[in-house]
Amino acid sequence: MAARTDAPPGAPFDHDGLAVRVLFGPGRVGALAEALDASGLERVLLIDGLEVPAVVAAVEDVLGRRRVRTLSRVRQHVPVEDAEAARALARELEVDGLVALGGGSATGLAKAIALTEALPIAAVPTTYAGSEMTAIWGMSENDRKTTGRSAQVAPRIVIYDPELTYSLPAGATAASGMNAVAHCVEALWTAAATPLTDAVATEGLALLAAGLRACVADPTDRPARATALRGAWLGGIALASAGTALHHKLCHVLGGFGMPHAEVHAALLPEVTALFAPVVPAAAARIADALGDQDAASGLRSLARELEATQTLADMGLSARQAREAAALAAAAELSSPRAVTEAEILDVLLAAGAPR
Ligand code: NAD
Repeated sequence: MAARTDAPPGAPFDHDGLAVRVLFGPGRVGALAEALDASGLERVLLIDGLEVPAVVAAVEDVLGRRRVRTLSRVRQHVPVEDAEAARALARELEVDGLVALGGGSATGLAKAIALTEALPIAAVPTTYAGSEMTAIWGMSENDRKTTGRSAQVAPRIVIYDPELTYSLPAGATAASGMNAVAHCVEALWTAAATPLTDAVATEGLALLAAGLRACVADPTDRPARATALRGAWLGGIALASAGTALHHKLCHVLGGFGMPHAEVHAALLPEVTALFAPVVPAAAARIADALGDQDAASGLRSLARELEATQTLADMGLSARQAREAAALAAAAELSSPRAVTEAEILDVLLAAGAPR
């Protein structure tokens, strides 16, 4: 199937969206208790993936008697043993809901609990990773990450409060921000893209480009924080409905080799975009426009440079053998990319992103 932006206007499509209540605005975390009450949630487990004591204490205050316990052991990629311990705790405490405060790691742990315990999630994201808008869960064991989709893990309430992101350091801002940028870019060319995801991804990309540049220059720039968070929300919606293709697959495979997730996004996204741009010219034009550049790939390279996310895959420690293995794994996967790609083309993408020969 042709990618949506580049498909004729009458091309058929299926669009699935998630039912979620979103509250956005500075100070809106104060509405968390009311939102829980409206959903009948009385005993929640607070998952703190933030490590900023003043913010955690403020959220605990808002929750008051509704908070049964705060769980602060949150690690990236949700190790299975963490998920099992957290599920046991949720059962022991007899909670009726989960509040995930933090980035994708906190939301990820809440999703792992929800997957088996069928508990509703209220998410208060403090990075730009976008997991709070999706039904995608992920867990890791023995250096391998498993992901899946289940409506049961999709948060029912999401509160975006830009004030909670002021403490996010420039490095983590750029890292989770490039992840959000990748959600918008790849959503424009997957086979599941729809007119709605096209519009959302294009607007999200423009907001992220403007907001992230300003946030990295000054992490306390309040309007920029709000702009970037709005962009991240839209990126999450695009990801949830349009899904992913070659770019995310490669990031996933390299993540399995221990490469840093967000930096890999920044290095690969311009090169995957250069590969697909000729077959998705309308999507490429949208990306270029949203970034204020003549060309989609060069616009993404400039953005990564401005966010100081400029490491090559070799800088991150990827070996030539791992690059060949990644190309083979990605070529063998069933992906919803705009066209079929060979193992040799994927290896060229990795080399262009600085993998050693
Ligand atoms: P993260 O949640 O691991 O957070 C990164 C670091 O930033 C942590 O040390 C955290 O304590 C700190 N931090 C978070 N918010 C902060 C704040 N406001 N102030 C100061 N420090 C703060 O990283 P992430 O990039 O948000 O999420 C990455 C994870 O999310 C990965 O495991 C990725 O696979 C997953 N993810 C999942 C989906 C999905 O749909 N399932 C989507 C995107 C990402």
